[in-house]
Amino acid sequence: MGGYLHASIGQPCPLPYDAINAMKLFFTKYYGVNWLQQIAGKKSTPRSQKMAVDITCVNNLKQLALAFHMYTMDNSDTLPTADNWQTVLKEYLGDAFATIITCPKTKNVYHYCLNGQKLHDFQNPSRVIAFYDDIGAHNDSICIAFLDGHVQIVKLNGAQTIEELAQQEGFILQK
Ligand SMILES: [Zn+2]
Repeated sequence: MGGYLHASIGQPCPLPYDAINAMKLFFTKYYGVNWLQQIAGKKSTPRSQKMAVDITCVNNLKQLALAFHMYTMDNSDTLPTADNWQTVLKEYLGDAFATIITCPKTKNVYHYCLNGQKLHDFQNPSRVIAFYDDIGAHNDSICIAFLDGHVQIVKLNGAQTIEELAQQEGFILQK
């Protein structure tokens, strides 16, 4: 059972075998379920590892949004275009560019959905999607950077496309 725990949860366990067994008995007694099997069966990767990937994605998008705003300020409030965004933002992101524009989970470049508009063309920048992940990138969620620079992890709740998700959540999608 000790070996099973190591293999399934993938982290070294500092507790001796007897202590694990005692804990298991305690939880089984009080919760009436085999909690260990439930945890091991549900998650193929440790929860902490999944969260670390999500946080890296959020941080990437925050840096991308910052570079995006710096570019926009330097260019009289004109947003990057669909064609030039990677080229112009590279100037602001330096060597980390390739990593920052890529979701750590899917390894795909983020989608950019604006195209050379003026920043003041938008009434509700906090609802306007600027960059987003592939649908399902983080299982039941994706990360989105909005025009005001904030980044959110958004649950799909059954949405199959970015259009559906935008409609469901009341986000503004320029396509
Ligand atoms: Zn992502």
